[in-house]
Amino acid sequence: MTDIPAESAQQRVAAVPARLTALQTRIGSAAAGAGRDPSAVRLLLAAKTMPVDAVRAAVRAGAGLIGENRVSELVDHAAALADLGPELHVIGHLQSNKVNAAVSWAHCVESVDSAPLAQRLSRRCEAVGRNLDVMVQVNVSGEPTKFGVDPAEATELAITVAALPRLRLVGLMTVGANTPGGTVVRSGYARLRELRDAVVGQVPSATELSMGMSGDLEHAIAEGATIVRVGTAVFGARAPA
Ligand SMILES: *Cc1c(COP(=O)(O)O)cnc(C)c1O
Repeated sequence: MTDIPAESAQQRVAAVPARLTALQTRIGSAAAGAGRDPSAVRLLLAAKTMPVDAVRAAVRAGAGLIGENRVSELVDHAAALADLGPELHVIGHLQSNKVNAAVSWAHCVESVDSAPLAQRLSRRCEAVGRNLDVMVQVNVSGEPTKFGVDPAEATELAITVAALPRLRLVGLMTVGANTPGGTVVRSGYARLRELRDAVVGQVPSATELSMGMSGDLEHAIAEGATIVRVGTAVFGARAPA
């Protein structure tokens, strides 16, 4: 999708409502195809690099859940969207020096991938007197460029995280394999579901499966995704990094 030219800011904002409607139809079809209730799949819009106007247009058109890769954008969007009150999730790698800002603005951190990061989040939540929903990010594809704990260590980390004060483990998250054809992608999503099923036996709150993006959300929904994270399909192509 990177060969699609980035749109003008105006074109992007104008296109958001119709693209959101089309995406909701697509999610509904995927859920129906998988024999699932469409309302069991929540849409998270991945806002990375998007200007505030485009994100506002999406929230006004009904998107209530926004995902942020960068804490700087989380802080900007939280301020600019405060009147609309969307739920904000951190979905990118969280550096330890950004923990305080994340705890100030995020409803959920989906990208917890180590015990030290979870401990920092827990301590900060204690200091400011709040509870925080978290997910453990798992690298199901094993691709070295991806963040997330190794699947073999995921259950242990999940149980460690769930035991920390102020953190509520709500599920598992992954970024799917970056391969053409659906077989590898889908088996990675099946793996995350199996891990979630194992964790939920010990941590009953950990029901969420955050997986699937613009290019592969049908596979994720077929394997039980409860949150799909979509950027390009609603906001258009991002400028090359
Ligand atoms: C960018 C991003 C998405 C959305 O990707 P699209 O292909 O634009 O839909 C989902 N999850 C994470 C973690 C991302 O960084």
